[in-house]
Amino acid sequence: MKTNTICVQGGYTPGNGEPRQIPIVQSTTFKYDTSEDMGKLFDLEAEGYFYTRLQNPTNDYVAAKIAELEGGTAAMLTSSGQAANFFALFNICECGDHIVSSSSIYGGTFNLISVTMKRMGIDVTFVSPTATEEELNAAFRPNTKAMFGETIANPALTVLDIELFAKVAHAHGVPLIVDNTFATPVGCRPFEWGADIVTHSTTKYMDGHGAGVGGAIVDSGNFDWMAHADKYPGLTTPDESYHGVNYSERFGNAGAFITKCTTQLMRDLGSIQSPQNAFLLNLGLESLHVRMKRHCENGQAVAEFLHDHPKVAYVNYCGLPDDPYHALAEKYLPNGSCGVVSFGLAGGRAAASTFMKNLKLAAIETHVADARTCCLNPASSTHRQMTDEQLKEAGVPAELIRISVGLEDIEDLIADLAQALEKC
Ligand SMILES: *Cc1c(COP(=O)(O)O)cnc(C)c1O
Repeated sequence: MKTNTICVQGGYTPGNGEPRQIPIVQSTTFKYDTSEDMGKLFDLEAEGYFYTRLQNPTNDYVAAKIAELEGGTAAMLTSSGQAANFFALFNICECGDHIVSSSSIYGGTFNLISVTMKRMGIDVTFVSPTATEEELNAAFRPNTKAMFGETIANPALTVLDIELFAKVAHAHGVPLIVDNTFATPVGCRPFEWGADIVTHSTTKYMDGHGAGVGGAIVDSGNFDWMAHADKYPGLTTPDESYHGVNYSERFGNAGAFITKCTTQLMRDLGSIQSPQNAFLLNLGLESLHVRMKRHCENGQAVAEFLHDHPKVAYVNYCGLPDDPYHALAEKYLPNGSCGVVSFGLAGGRAAASTFMKNLKLAAIETHVADARTCCLNPASSTHRQMTDEQLKEAGVPAELIRISVGLEDIEDLIADLAQALEKC
């Protein structure tokens, strides 16, 4: 099936007389006739549900749709994008290990990796998203277990050279994990370029209406854990905490990663998405293909308007021909990138504040990828714990404004920007 069809119908096919819409299974637990029946589930011998912290049918329908959209073999939902990235990394990294990550990533993920996971004994080397193959190679150590980047980085809007990152990761026997939140599978399918694991903050375009925080992890099924068994004992040797199951042997490359992530991390850390939120997420997914097209059109029009405005110093949007990431966007995002545009006003920080105060349609919000246009100055909000030097390195200078262009009429949006710019 094509992406447009999967958005609408993927993941759930009702049988005769069953509900047309995905049922919300609002139940923490599931009933069995015998202890033996339930025992088979605990031994991973039979498929089924016993407790929603591990799995719930509503979540599984929606995860299956996301797996189909990405062209993966298995997927799971998490309570947030933060949980998705943490689980994806922690599923294969432990104390004493090392991660190579693009420096151009979401502020929350930057903190997760550089502060919280460091405290857990997991080290990181940040690399520039524009690093050469040689520079990327030099970042690897014998204990490196994962490489990480974002297809379109939030908020720097750099575009990841997925094929190059995947090539380097694989040369070191390590999977590439790509956060595909901003591009969505409508814009880019990282597995087609060699990525091994994809993560999402479904809070953004997938939900698309600012209704529910959530995340997802998708496995391509392509990474051969057994071929690198010495690096990934958690996937290739018996799990003492789960009846000695060897995930790679039992579930193969297609299922090992997500099964381990569910049975260990979800079991112990419990960051499950509520079935109610999974249902809302699915409503968003049903129109994702239609909305992304409009987000990209509106984003392009706003970027072009700002680009030509005398009060605007610079615009970051890979759809602009003079953007440094335009060539990468043409390769990885041929159908358009997203609705998020960032720019700096010639008047600096002060002008940014005046501009934002005067906007009428675009609201100031710590959010992006919503049907309603919103904007933010990352240095004074999401990235405020970073030093000026880190801000610059992450591509988020202090005067930067990020605008997430929604689905309103483009003439109204541009009129709003124009009147606010006049007052700067
Ligand atoms: C928002 C975001 C996250 C974090 O997701 P939450 O759902 O807010 O926890 C991770 N990565 C990217 C690219 C994001 O935009």
